[in-house]
Amino acid sequence: MAQKLGVYICGGCDIGASLDVEGLAEFVKNGKYSSNCAVVKTSPVLCSPESKGVIEEDIKANGLDGVVVCACSPRVKWDVFNFGSALVERVNLREQCVWSFQDDPAVPGLLETMAKDYVRMGMAKATKSNPPEVEDLKTTKTIMVMGGGFTGLNAALYSAKMGHDVVLVEKEDELGGKAGNMYKSFPLTPPYTEAQDTGVAELVKEVTSNKAIKVMTGSMVEELAGAPGQYTAKIKTASKTEEVPVGAVVLATGWVPQDTAYLEPLGYGKYKNVVTAHEFETLIKSRGLARPGDSKVPESVAFVLDMDLALAAKASKEEDEAAEETAAAPAAGAGEGEEEAAFVYEDKEVAKHLSYSSELSSLVALKQAGYVREKNPKACAYILYDHMMVPGVNERYYKAAADDPGVMLSKAQVTSIRQDTDGGLLITAKNTLIGGYVELKADMVVLPTGMVPVTAHEPTMNFNYRQGPHFPDLELFDGFVDSNYICFPYETRRTGVYAAGCAHQPMTMALAKEDAAGAALKAVQCINSVNHGAAVHPRSGDLTYPVFNFVRCTQCKRCTEECPFGALDDDEKGTPKPNISRCRRCGTCMGACPERVISFSTYNIDQIGTAIKEVEVPDDIVAGGPRVIVLACENDAYPALDMAAFRKKSWSPYVRFLPVRCLGSVNAIWVADAMSKGVDGVMLLGCKYGDDYQCHFVKGSELCNRRKENIAESLDRLGVEAERVEQYQVSIDEYDTIPELIDAFMEKIKPFGPNPFKGY
Ligand code: SF4
Ligand code: SF4
Repeated sequence: MAQKLGVYICGGCDIGASLDVEGLAEFVKNGKYSSNCAVVKTSPVLCSPESKGVIEEDIKANGLDGVVVCACSPRVKWDVFNFGSALVERVNLREQCVWSFQDDPAVPGLLETMAKDYVRMGMAKATKSNPPEVEDLKTTKTIMVMGGGFTGLNAALYSAKMGHDVVLVEKEDELGGKAGNMYKSFPLTPPYTEAQDTGVAELVKEVTSNKAIKVMTGSMVEELAGAPGQYTAKIKTASKTEEVPVGAVVLATGWVPQDTAYLEPLGYGKYKNVVTAHEFETLIKSRGLARPGDSKVPESVAFVLDMDLALAAKASKEEDEAAEETAAAPAAGAGEGEEEAAFVYEDKEVAKHLSYSSELSSLVALKQAGYVREKNPKACAYILYDHMMVPGVNERYYKAAADDPGVMLSKAQVTSIRQDTDGGLLITAKNTLIGGYVELKADMVVLPTGMVPVTAHEPTMNFNYRQGPHFPDLELFDGFVDSNYICFPYETRRTGVYAAGCAHQPMTMALAKEDAAGAALKAVQCINSVNHGAAVHPRSGDLTYPVFNFVRCTQCKRCTEECPFGALDDDEKGTPKPNISRCRRCGTCMGACPERVISFSTYNIDQIGTAIKEVEVPDDIVAGGPRVIVLACENDAYPALDMAAFRKKSWSPYVRFLPVRCLGSVNAIWVADAMSKGVDGVMLLGCKYGDDYQCHFVKGSELCNRRKENIAESLDRLGVEAERVEQYQVSIDEYDTIPELIDAFMEKIKPFGPNPFKGY
């Protein structure tokens, strides 16, 4: 525990103009924690080099083990207020005290009371912190790249260039993947107007001749056991199974075509000359331009990008019924209903199938229209689109295609495709520029290919984790393995495994190359962090980790089950077995544990509980005002509060903020502590959850919401209104509305009157 503290109070940035800084220093010297304070000083500008020098001198001269900086938000100047091994606790007097203060003339001295609360809370936190015991782990630097396609080849080369040995595992007998089977790529280099060679053959040569890269084709990962920096991969080849030590993994297993059932209303599967874009690419590469039905070289090919599947399903059904009637088909009966069910396509279903491929399908259509023109200069290519998506430099490619008189681009949504007697296809479309429905005939039709990650279909990693061999919750993300699309590209829900290319999300080859570099860098960062016991992103560099007091553990398994990153294994009895380098230090396990077994050296149940107890709660709500504790997620809500203050927003002077690592780390005991102290309400400010979740730790705010139901039951039993505890979803850009949220909560709890536990 930090016992010899230096407390420094800044008078700059309006703090000194609003508060009696010297008086506050006297309050610390004579206050509850005075015996812990070896030094108490004020400064007109604490972040100045002079003041920083003073603190450094004090640390040396007095052997301080902790420094309490009462100044600006912990989100700023963290590089200035860094004093090596001395623990630093920041007290946010600027943003969340003086800048956002809203006076209530009915209660005098409110700002001073607030500042004293925050200083006491900071002192409590500092005295309940310990320097982390750094775990030095013996790590291997080898990076395993899974997938020998375009992305995997690039990732292997980037990793090798950064000085790492690489094991490249490819399940096929040849390297190259999907790109290796492509005829050409979209433009990858200036002037970005023509399709070009994919460059895969050269990449394969570069990889196979690189001494740092061990290529294992015809292989698969049978098991990945251990933790980042210390994995053992069991790799099965045709003849044997090899055990390879691995530090981190780049997952570049790519994509597979989506189930084509949803294209059936457009004649796919019924008419041979209706193919998918993926099939057309293979056809061009293997046989050139030839219709699958009769090998005739087509004179016209229609590329369909957007369709109304509901109308197409109806048209297809009517056509089938007409054909049945003509052929005196058996009387309609039970089968009719089944057929109808098979052709119901709701918009949301269509959106789900096509939502990730619009940019790609536009570029693929432009490229393949070019193949038609190259292979048969007399032929015409039609591109029928509702949305042509060609962002950035690809606009040039679009313009080059539009300038070709043999490529006809037209806005249209296809509503039906029927086969003519000569094997050609009759395409009906709506929403064209000329209005109404139009009909067009083409020798072949090419439909877009939906792309789904291989990880949606195959186990791929085969983790030897207590949580199972797969990535978790894949159904929520259509099989993609990211842990947070918005903030953390590449990161999966398994620390140490970084996704790149189409395993990450559908993307062009140009982006896949960048992605390969990004994921390789992440793998390198991970190995370097793990090497000295530090956390990876988002708590990069954090040396704390969950410590278990197993004496009290009841083996309830909540921590192992709720850890979003599979960091905890357990033994046969259910006792958790932590894996430090898998852990992202979110504290979700600490929030889950009913026995309060889990703690971090600088963040623990006792520490936050004590800080809550340091909030002075007046017995008389009229004379002193109510009190509300706000536990704010440090990733989104806390910065949003700082930004609101920076924009001169203010809110009720009766709230006290405490940052938490994630709402998932909030243990119910903190809420109970607050309520039993007489606090009138508790606000839990966390990230958005559900489909568009933004939680940095995947499901922390969602878990908190579930736990809140248990808290509500406990409050009910105590005779305290459950509505006094509310959770809100706040994203980082909601700084304009967050003050209203706080004030609305204050209004909401007003009718309940004072907490009945006040004064106990
Ligand atoms: S801190 Fe988070 S990642 Fe680490 S074990 Fe606990 S729940 Fe898992
Ligand atoms: S949640 Fe707590 S009591 Fe339950 S298994 Fe984990 S450490 Fe043990």
